Amino acid sequence: MVGELSDLHAALEADELVPCFQPLVELHTGRLCGFEVLTRWQSPSRELILPENFIALAEANGLIGHLMQQVFSKAFAAIALLPHPLILAVNISPTQLHHLTLPSQIRNIAEAAGFPLNRLTVEITESALFNNLDRALVIATDLKALGCRLALDDFGTGYSSLSHLQKLPFDELKIDRSFIDKMTSVRSSRKIVAAIVGLGHSMDLITIAEGIETEEQADMLLWLGCDQGQGWLYGKPARIEDVPLIVAAPPHPRLMGLTPGDGWAVSSLEALPTQRLAQLQAIYDGAPVGLSFLDRKFRYVSLNKRLADMNGASVAEHLGRTVKEMYPKWFSVYEPYLLRALKGESMTGVEVIRPSPIPGEPDITTQVSYQPAWDEGDEVIGVSVAVVMAVDKDRAEESLQESDDRQRYLSELNHRVPWIMDENGNTVHMSAHWTSLHPLNKNYVRNLGWLEALHAEDIEPTMKMMRDALSSGNPIDLEYRVKTLDGDWKWLRSRGNPRFKPSGEIIRWYGSVEDIDERKQREEAIAKN
Ligand code: C2E
Ligand code: CA
Ligand code: CA
Repeated sequence: MVGELSDLHAALEADELVPCFQPLVELHTGRLCGFEVLTRWQSPSRELILPENFIALAEANGLIGHLMQQVFSKAFAAIALLPHPLILAVNISPTQLHHLTLPSQIRNIAEAAGFPLNRLTVEITESALFNNLDRALVIATDLKALGCRLALDDFGTGYSSLSHLQKLPFDELKIDRSFIDKMTSVRSSRKIVAAIVGLGHSMDLITIAEGIETEEQADMLLWLGCDQGQGWLYGKPARIEDVPLIVAAPPHPRLMGLTPGDGWAVSSLEALPTQRLAQLQAIYDGAPVGLSFLDRKFRYVSLNKRLADMNGASVAEHLGRTVKEMYPKWFSVYEPYLLRALKGESMTGVEVIRPSPIPGEPDITTQVSYQPAWDEGDEVIGVSVAVVMAVDKDRAEESLQESDDRQRYLSELNHRVPWIMDENGNTVHMSAHWTSLHPLNKNYVRNLGWLEALHAEDIEPTMKMMRDALSSGNPIDLEYRVKTLDGDWKWLRSRGNPRFKPSGEIIRWYGSVEDIDERKQREEAIAKN
C-alpha cells in the first residue's frame, strides 16, 4: 500500500505527516547543537513510514509543498522546547529549488509559529543544484537574506562539484553517511572524510558528519577536526514528545571527558588543523636540530631552515622532491632506515657520515632519528626525521663540552615533553609523558598548578621569569627542581616560544620540558673539583 498516490493525498488530508527530531551534536564537547527535522508518515493503522517511501512520490506529484507546510509548521512549533541557541535543520527537495517563492513560503510558516529564522538551517542536496544553479543561487541568496543558514547535504555523492561550493553561500558541509560508515575500515573513505573536513575548514564552513554509529567513528572524526555529528550514537530521530528529555540530558557521556574545563580536553581542540600547523611551525622554528617530514614516497613535505642549511640547499628546493632526487649519492645510506620507519619502527641516534655541502670541507658526522607518523587509522603516513650535527670525530674526543652539547641535543630529541600555554600563562595542554617526568597528578598541571611541585627556592625566580616572558614575549627558558615520587629533587628545563597573531598579540606559547638532572649533576661535580 505504501507509495500509493491516493494514500499520500489522504495522509496529507488527515494530517498524518509528522516531524521527527534527530540530535545534532558538537563533537568535542558532546553538547547538543539542535535537531535535524526528518519527516515520518504516521498512519494510525500502520507502522511509521520512512521518507524513502513517500518523498519521491510527493515530489513527482506536486505534493511536496503541501508536505513541507504540514511538517514544518509542526516542527517550528517546537520552538518552545528549544532553549537558545539550539537550532533546527530542515530538508528541501531538489524540485523545490525551482520555485522562487520557496523562501517566502518558509518565512511564512516560521512567522506563524514564531520561529526565528536565524535558528534555521536549510539543507540542500547536491543533486538539487545540478542543472539548476542559477535558480538555486537566487533562492539561496533570499534564504540567507532572511537569516537562515545553508547546508550542503550529502556532500561527496552524486553530482559533487566544487563549483557548487564556490557559487552558493553555504555555511555548512554535511559529509555523506556512506563515507562515515566505512571510514574506520576503508582507507579511501577515511581519506575522503579527511579531505572534506580540510576543505570545509579552509572555506570557513562548519563540517557535520552524518550517520555516526560508533565511538570509534566519533573519535576519528574528532581528531580529523570535524565540528559536528549526527547519528544513532547520539540518538535516532525522536518524536516531538521526547525532545524535552533530549534537551535536558547531559552531553553525550563518551565525550564528557573532553568538555572544556578539563585541561586534557584542550589537547583535542588543539588538534584542529590550523592550530596543529601553527604549533608544528613554532616547534620547527625553535628547534636546535634539523627537522623534516617525509611522506610515504620520501618526499620532503616540510623541513626547517636548519636542516636546509645543513644540506646546503634552500627549503623551497627541497619541498616536493624526494630524498633520492636531492641526494642521489647518499640516499642508499638513509633508505634502509626510512623503510624500517615506514614499517612502524622508530630509531634514534643513527650515526650517518656524509660529505659537507661546502666542497673541500671534511665529512660531517650526523646523528639521525627516524620516527614514523601515524594517521587516525594507525597507518604510517610518513616519517619525521631529525638530524643533529655531531662534532667531527677527532675534536669530539678532545672536547668534553662539545660532546655534552651533543648529548644534550640527543636527549632533547628523545625526552622532550611538549606543552601548550595560553597568553595568560595557563597551561592548556601537557603531553601524556608529563607524568613520566613529574610527580604531580595531571589534574594539577592545568593553569599554574605545576608551580606547586617546584622546590621552594625555585618558585619565586620561576614566577618572575614567567611574568617577564608573558609581558615581553621573550622566549621562556627555565630550570627548576621538582620533587620526584621517591622524594628526591630532579632538575627540569622548560623552554618555549610565543606564537603571535598578525596584530602582534601573543595567542599561544609552545614549548617543552626536559629532564636535565644528569647534566646538572655533572656540572655540580665539575664545580666541586
Ligand atoms: P538525509 O537528509 O541525508 O537524512 C539523514 C538520514 O540518515 C535520515 O534518514 C536519518 O534517519 C538517517 N540516519 C541518521 N543517523 C543515522 C545512523 O547513524 N545510521 C543510519 N543507518 N542512518 C542514519 P531518513 O529519516 O530515512 O530520511 C531519508 C532522507 O529523506 C533524508 O536524508 C532526506 O533527504 C529526506 N527527507 C527526510 N525528511 C524530509 C523532508 O521533510 N523533506 C524533504 N524534502 N526530504 C526529507
Ligand atoms: Ca539532511
Ligand atoms: Ca544527508
